[in-house]
Amino acid sequence: MNERAEPPASSSSASPLIVIVSGPGGVGKGTIVDALLRRDSTLLLSRSWTTREQRPGEHDQAYVFTTREAFETHRENDGFLEWTEFLGNYYGTPVPDFSSTQDIVLEIEVDGAQQVKVRHPESVLLFILPPSRDEQRRRLIGRGDPDHKVLERLRKAEEEEPVGLALADYSFVNDDLDQTVDEMLVLINRLRADSRR
Ligand code: 5GP
Repeated sequence: MNERAEPPASSSSASPLIVIVSGPGGVGKGTIVDALLRRDSTLLLSRSWTTREQRPGEHDQAYVFTTREAFETHRENDGFLEWTEFLGNYYGTPVPDFSSTQDIVLEIEVDGAQQVKVRHPESVLLFILPPSRDEQRRRLIGRGDPDHKVLERLRKAEEEEPVGLALADYSFVNDDLDQTVDEMLVLINRLRADSRR
C-alpha cells in the first residue's frame, strides 16, 4: 500500500466514512469490494445506476439498470452524488443516506471519484492498480466483453491511471487479493479509530 503524504482530514464521528474504491477496468475492484463486504458486514455498498446493458450472467442487483431518460430525470432532480459518462453509458451514485451510521463503499471510476472528493474532502480514495497490463487484459477477457470493448477499456485505463494516482489517498497493486483486502481493512479500521478521537 502507498500512502499519500497528507491523508484526508478525518470526518466527525457522527458522519459515516465514505470509502471510494476506484481503479481502471479489469483491476479487480468488484472482487475486492465483494471480499471487503463479506469480511466487514457493517460496510454498506452503494448501488449505482447505469444505462449500460446488463452483461450475460451479470447479477440483476449489480446496478439499477435504467434508461438514459430516467437517468437524466434523476440527475435533474439532484438524485446523484456524482455521475459520469463512461465509454458511452451513464453511471451514477445515488445520494446516500448520510443520517445512517453505516460506513459507505463506492466502487466508481476516477471522474466520479474526483467529484466525490470535491464534495466530501473527508472521503477516502483507495486507488487500485493491476499487477500488469497482461493480467488486466486477461481479467477483462474473462469477464466476457467482446474484443473491441476490451481494447477500449485498456485504452481508457491508460488515461485513468495517472489521474487516479494523483487523486488517491492510498494506492494498492492488486497482486494478491487476500493481502490487498487485509491491508484495506486495517486501513479502514484505523480511519474509523482516528475519526472517533
Ligand atoms: P462496468 O461497465 O465495467 O460495470 O463499469 C465501468 C466503470 O464504471 C467501472 O470503472 C466502474 O467502477 C465504474 N462505475 C460503476 N458505477 C459507477 C458510478 O456510480 N459512478 C461512476 N462514476 N463510475 C461507476
